[in-house]
Amino acid sequence: MAAASPLDSAWECLIDNFSEFQLATVVTFLLHESVFFLSGIPSLLFERFGLFAKYKIQKKSNAPAYQNRCVLRLILYHVGVNLPVMIFSYPAFKFMGLRSSLPLPHWTVIVSQILFYFVLEDFIFYWGHRALHTKWLYKHVHSVHHEYATPFGLTSEYAHPAEILFLGFATIVGPALTGPHLITLWLWMVLRVLETVEAHSGYHFPWSPSNFLPLYGGSDFHDYHHRVLFTKSGNYASTFVYMDWLFGTDKGYRKIKAIEGEEGKHL
Ligand SMILES: [Zn+2]
Ligand SMILES: [Zn+2]
Repeated sequence: MAAASPLDSAWECLIDNFSEFQLATVVTFLLHESVFFLSGIPSLLFERFGLFAKYKIQKKSNAPAYQNRCVLRLILYHVGVNLPVMIFSYPAFKFMGLRSSLPLPHWTVIVSQILFYFVLEDFIFYWGHRALHTKWLYKHVHSVHHEYATPFGLTSEYAHPAEILFLGFATIVGPALTGPHLITLWLWMVLRVLETVEAHSGYHFPWSPSNFLPLYGGSDFHDYHHRVLFTKSGNYASTFVYMDWLFGTDKGYRKIKAIEGEEGKHL
């Protein structure tokens, strides 16, 4: 038998000390909170103290009180909505085939499953998000997420509780179809949080992932969605750019990019 890797040993320590229920609920919640706030707070501070102004996408900034209001409501929603959902959906995850035992899946299985989750989530999110931009749903549900027309990282999860449930649904369809290992589920959650926080960061840096990853939307793509009127915005996809291109909902954005490109040439 092959010797256990450090990751196997760490995982064994985890499953020896916590029940699967604890890992899939409370530990998942704490992991989500840590990644979300640690990745989201920098762009809040950059905006508050005027740092990296050169890379800020919009000239406007949110007042500190307006930023604080977002943080307080997020804590309320996370404890009041996300945590109970994680606890009550555990039997559903078990039914889907969730497991936390050793051996851990091979890295190629983890990578291919996560890629599949990203593509599927993007597809479901695109159509759900387009529906959220119809008049009734926008007025009663999605306008909450759009209260911040100048987004910063933490506004990514700032939404009406009904929308939080939709986002959760879009996130778990992939895992539900493949019956994942808990480590895959955690890695998927971490990457999805980092992706959406970056997309809402309000900053486009030379090292932003959209400069390197083909088909990736990122902050510039989603910031446009927030700053334009809800009936005209487009750019509905969560991660990639091809859904909006295929269905013609990125025309306004492409036009602005073309104009910016022309202006850049004449400078
Ligand atoms: Zn929207
Ligand atoms: Zn958004």
